[in-house]
Amino acid sequence: MTVDKQQILDALKTVIDSESGQDILSLGYVTGLVIKNGHIGFSLELPDAEKASRSEPLRARAEQVVKAIPGVLSSTVVLTAERPQGSTPAAARPALPPQMPGKQGPKPAPPLEGIKDVKAIIAIASGKGGVGKSTTAVNLALALARRGLNVGLLDADIYGPSVPRLVGAQGKPDVAGKIIEPIIAHGIKTMSIGYLVDQEKAMVWRGPMVGSAVTQLLGDVHWGDLDILVVDMPPGTGDAQLTLSQKVPLAGAVIVSTPQDIALIDARKGLAMFRQVDVPIFGIIENMSYFLCPSCGDRADIFGTGGARETAAALGADFLGEIPLHMDIRETSDQGTPVVSVSPDGPQARAYLDIAEKIAARLSAK
Ligand code: ADP
Repeated sequence: MTVDKQQILDALKTVIDSESGQDILSLGYVTGLVIKNGHIGFSLELPDAEKASRSEPLRARAEQVVKAIPGVLSSTVVLTAERPQGSTPAAARPALPPQMPGKQGPKPAPPLEGIKDVKAIIAIASGKGGVGKSTTAVNLALALARRGLNVGLLDADIYGPSVPRLVGAQGKPDVAGKIIEPIIAHGIKTMSIGYLVDQEKAMVWRGPMVGSAVTQLLGDVHWGDLDILVVDMPPGTGDAQLTLSQKVPLAGAVIVSTPQDIALIDARKGLAMFRQVDVPIFGIIENMSYFLCPSCGDRADIFGTGGARETAAALGADFLGEIPLHMDIRETSDQGTPVVSVSPDGPQARAYLDIAEKIAARLSAK
């Protein structure tokens, strides 16, 4: 039985966003619909990250109505969002923890004791939120660890820390005096503001405070001997990101983008930002690049794949690889069991492992 596009659109018209009272199709949330041998995939692109964080029921409902269409074998829906650069409404911001007093304004560069034995720090960045930057950072960190490297993962997304959820880590880290012990998850050392603060408490983070919080997470965390520290940067290319790129001694940066044009324009800004502060760009990764059919393994290009490759070539940056849009990646992320950790031999993990190999080669060439 074949499923046609109109049936899917009709079903999606019945999914109503309770906040606006309108259906998700009229709201323009549905993007990148792909139909492949009865397997359906698309994303719900929400206007901002806060809306996305409230929209899991909407995503589940969209997945469910499509799944109920006769002939549909699977439906995979992901939430993406465009977050204004470097800003988040106060209600979604975490409070500073007691051990991390906010410092404002220029200050002399701190000695950063915590990273004195870290050989290289790399940034995973994106021009906008919702492109899968954190998912990519986590899986790349695990892929680098599988290559035998000693890896740490720092969640520098102060506005919306997601590493604790993605690696399934709970609880507070041990703090002795000023020194914070990283939390080991899936064999790597991790640290996130999300481990330290009560995320329910609202607090306004100003640009300089973001920089100083991250500097403290680098300096006060007992990272120990590491070959690579992967930093999941805050999304966007605003002042907070620029300051951070200057403050963190980066060996290189990797830009994550989806194939959509808008994301690529943002990726260009990301490249320009790192160039401005003389951080070498290791390259661009195209995430949710193509839809991998869960049963036959065939690929279908959703958003017009290849945009990142072309952008990379046009801007003189390397193209590091593409990662499929796949239910396993979303589900494993949501469950705190990243795909590289639970299915290291599968095709999804392969995509991350191949990219990790290129990054490791860039680092050893340096
Ligand atoms: P960002 O850090 O850019 O805001 P996230 O890593 O939080 O984005 O990803 C946004 C959503 O997209 C999450 O629900 C995540 O599970 C999902 N996602 C990310 N990459 C993929 C992928 N390649 N395939 C399927 N879902 C993905």
